[in-house]
Amino acid sequence: MNKKTIKVGNLEIGSNKIVLIAGPCAIESEEELILDTKDLIKVDVYRGGTFKSRTSPHSFSGLGQKGIDILNKISKTNNKLSITEITSANFIPEYEKNVDIIQVGARNMQNFELLKALGKTNKPIMIKRGFGNTLEELLYAAEYISKEGNENIILCERGIRTFENSTRFTLDISAISVLKNKTPYPVIVDPSHAAGKKEYVESLSLAAVAAGADGLMIEVHSNPEKALSDKEQALKPEEYNKLIEKVEKVANAVGRSI
Ligand code: PEP
Ligand code: MN
Repeated sequence: MNKKTIKVGNLEIGSNKIVLIAGPCAIESEEELILDTKDLIKVDVYRGGTFKSRTSPHSFSGLGQKGIDILNKISKTNNKLSITEITSANFIPEYEKNVDIIQVGARNMQNFELLKALGKTNKPIMIKRGFGNTLEELLYAAEYISKEGNENIILCERGIRTFENSTRFTLDISAISVLKNKTPYPVIVDPSHAAGKKEYVESLSLAAVAAGADGLMIEVHSNPEKALSDKEQALKPEEYNKLIEKVEKVANAVGRSI
């Protein structure tokens, strides 16, 4: 399948370069986002949840609009792009203005009205595979977006639920080749949500790049023990930097760069 590259600012997603997306699970405050990101040596896109889809209604669900303002400010100040998850079509005008890449979360992969509405924009959309969904279902979800005219689609493998419970989910490495075989879209891998534990993030990241992923999305927090969500899987900035050095070696070994 011919590859499609998605241009966002100066970045081409799906090119020879492995795209690096990093940041906290959720935007907690401006000060915290600065601490989380200021020491990252290589990163293209800052991530951070603003309207969070949490499994429990009692968990921290993000700062909402204020989170978008913080993410937008800090990414622009540092000349980085931004990505955050959208949970309702009502927010599309705001995201079109102030977010570079719109993320559809695993729990909304089959929110078809949301997908159709995103298909009417021309923003880059990164759609994450639902943890109970097949790749065929992911591809149909992507078609809900493309059918409305928006071909700026990025797919994300973030782990699926299996009987194995030593990791939070099971990263489906074969998803990378299958998706590449069946679609022209770039494939990003999220090792953080797949692993659920920081000690497994490195091996999954390296495996993903070796297997042909076009990018990685990694959760980073300056003080993981204090993180308001997903603290067990967050890398400290210095741990992220060490990981990226290894990612670069694997990328080079398979003829790619970071
Ligand atoms: C996220 O990336 O912020 C997230 C919540 O992940 P997922 O939708 O894959 O659970
Ligand atoms: Mn998270």
